Amino acid sequence: MLVRHVRSRKAAVRMAAFLPPESAFTVDFFFMKNSAFLCDVVVVECADEYSIAKRMRKLKYFFRIIMVAAAALCCSCGNGESGARDSAAVLENGSSEESEYGGTGRQEIGANRYVDTAMGTVIQQTVYASEETAADFYVKSMALLKELEEERLSWRLETSEVWRINGTAGNEEGCGISEETAGVLRDCVELYERSDGAFDVTLGALTRLWNIDKWAAGGLDDGEADGFRLPSSADVEHALKLCGSDKIRLAAAGLGEGEPRVFLPEGMGLDLGAVGKGLAQSGLQGLLEAEEGVAGAVISLGGSILTFGDKPDGSPWKVGIVNPFDTSSNVGTLSLKGQWCVSTSGDYERYVEKDGVRYHHILDPHTGYPAVSDVRGVTILAKNGTLSDGLSTACFLLGPERGMELAEEYEVEVLFVMSDGQIVMSEGMETYFTEF
Ligand code: ADP
Ligand code: MG
Repeated sequence: MLVRHVRSRKAAVRMAAFLPPESAFTVDFFFMKNSAFLCDVVVVECADEYSIAKRMRKLKYFFRIIMVAAAALCCSCGNGESGARDSAAVLENGSSEESEYGGTGRQEIGANRYVDTAMGTVIQQTVYASEETAADFYVKSMALLKELEEERLSWRLETSEVWRINGTAGNEEGCGISEETAGVLRDCVELYERSDGAFDVTLGALTRLWNIDKWAAGGLDDGEADGFRLPSSADVEHALKLCGSDKIRLAAAGLGEGEPRVFLPEGMGLDLGAVGKGLAQSGLQGLLEAEEGVAGAVISLGGSILTFGDKPDGSPWKVGIVNPFDTSSNVGTLSLKGQWCVSTSGDYERYVEKDGVRYHHILDPHTGYPAVSDVRGVTILAKNGTLSDGLSTACFLLGPERGMELAEEYEVEVLFVMSDGQIVMSEGMETYFTEF
């Protein structure tokens, strides 16, 4: 066994990158169990010291897992601070009654905590239920997220529906799709129209060109090492021509026609990244409703938060909103009761810095480049995950004036953190938000 103490997240990341993949879970687990992280000390355990040297070249994949795990650690530390680059975090006071990890060990309702990774991010759950019910929910929820990514959303996996759709771009007969996906696409096209084209899930050609999903969350400064290559303006222009939700056609399932169909023009690709976590939130909501015996739950998907039911002591869920200027702190908290979805989009979540320029992951469909905006972060509070996720991206692009109007149209609450530090929010948001 190898045990190392390091004094910063960066050092932990560097060191963890040298561990063999099977240590990932050890690291993850240990992070959660050990409150040492509160003072930024991470102890890494590894089963086989010898294999570390052997695997030194295969760092990249593991490096990413640890980046995410490190973010989750901050997020879960429970001392009022949230995860670096996670947009929002669940803030909870630890209780000696509660178990440290994965269960109370009793049959009565307690706080059961789980941390895992799915959809390229960290999933944290606190489920108020018996240990058995919580464990059951945890297993089902991870299966749901895996299925959502692998069978529906990922444009990189051949097993997914989006992959299949993208593969038929240009085909006259289009692509048969599930009712759920047809519904999502309809909602996305509607948001495209209502956001004046700011929100666009047909940016596949562009996001691929920018290679966004390969950038590390939290923005490595050595972009090259993380696969970043600044695209030429000619390439951006070309990719831009292959985008536009107004160019897709959706055909509802009709009598004798079987499933609904979608038709993409040649070269177009869907990228549902902007609603992926929201769809996951909606799926988890359904699962929680169906699971008997869950009194309350709060689930964080890399900073998108879902709350459900109540805490046994009746106190509200506390969700911290990250300060974009110092991602280790919050600008304030939301106090929520019952079922809510909180989504944030910010230029600090996923970015690369190269030659002094910050390239972030929210693209302006009118230019093909990362959006230039006075906004640093937008948080949406809604009852529906897809809506909150989609609107956070849209409002980031639209800015406070138009964004506020759009939020009102959709009857959701919105909060903007502006680049001068000012906080602008909808009237309804004031009911829930407490500024620090
Ligand atoms: P995240 O899900 O990473 O927290 P967002 O919800 O804001 O952040 O979604 C950003 C993702 O959506 C990008 O990584 C990209 O895949 C995709 N995307 C980028 N720009 C747009 C846009 N203008 N409209 C729709 N999707 C976008
Ligand atoms: Mg979004």
